[in-house]
Amino acid sequence: MKLDGIHHITNITADGPRNVDFYARVMGLRMVKQSVNQDDPTVYHLFYGDENASPGADITFFEYPGVQQGRAGAGMIHTIAHRVGSAEALDFWRERLADEGVEASRDGDVLRFADPEGLGQVLVVDATEDEPLIAYATEVPDEFALRGFDHVRACAASPYESNELFEDALAFDAVADLEWEARGPTRGGRFIFEPGGTRGIQGAGTVHHIAWAASSDEDHLAFRERAIGAGARATPVIDRFYFRSIYFREPNGVLFELATHDPGFTVDEPEETLGEKLSLPPKLAGRRDEIEPGLRPLPDTRPWRRRAATRL
Ligand code: ZN
Repeated sequence: MKLDGIHHITNITADGPRNVDFYARVMGLRMVKQSVNQDDPTVYHLFYGDENASPGADITFFEYPGVQQGRAGAGMIHTIAHRVGSAEALDFWRERLADEGVEASRDGDVLRFADPEGLGQVLVVDATEDEPLIAYATEVPDEFALRGFDHVRACAASPYESNELFEDALAFDAVADLEWEARGPTRGGRFIFEPGGTRGIQGAGTVHHIAWAASSDEDHLAFRERAIGAGARATPVIDRFYFRSIYFREPNGVLFELATHDPGFTVDEPEETLGEKLSLPPKLAGRRDEIEPGLRPLPDTRPWRRRAATRL
């Protein structure tokens, strides 16, 4: 029993409209769901991913308008790595990001940059056989498109204290010192710890949590039991409508989620028009008239998507 790589990574933004412009236009991802934070429906939860809204490429943001800038520290993920197809893709992205006023630095086969709120990211050349998870953008040629998550890096005060949970309970494989891989039936994703780190501040431009994919409900429940057995204080299974979730902090403080593949983002809107308007899960649908006016209008992402642009 293995977790099937990274399911999604959720972060915090203070500026939803700018966030949409950056991820859906500049980075060429598809906005696959426009929803609200189910624990605080006054704020957006924005999801970006590949054309099919697959687990494995899904970067998401809670929008807290005007929230203070955060800073990654101990017990927090500080860098998200996306895969691209080639070294030429790194050249493309360095130029494209520079044109958008985003400084990117090349270090061998790694391109390092931060989003407009300081969220650290790298692009790495894909060294796996995993299916590339690509979105069809108007401004990014397919051969240069992001292909899904590769790994994350976090800081930890006592990184070895997470060994037991990672290796015994979550069945991560140790692939190097302080580097683990969750490789399941369809994909793999890695988690890397760096010792140290100052005290972080959760705020705009920081990672809120990382979700690992469970292939089945049986696996989902079994991993929960194993995490509890290793000392994690795991929540019960929570129905997020698009998937089912379990949350706990790993021993160094990074918030982990285990999320199911099913049912996915097409549960409440057709694949063709995913993310084009506000979706509310059934438990919040009756409050649409109260929730929707409190949210800021977002840019129309259709002109940036090849398949949607033909409908305009
Ligand atoms: Zn999540």
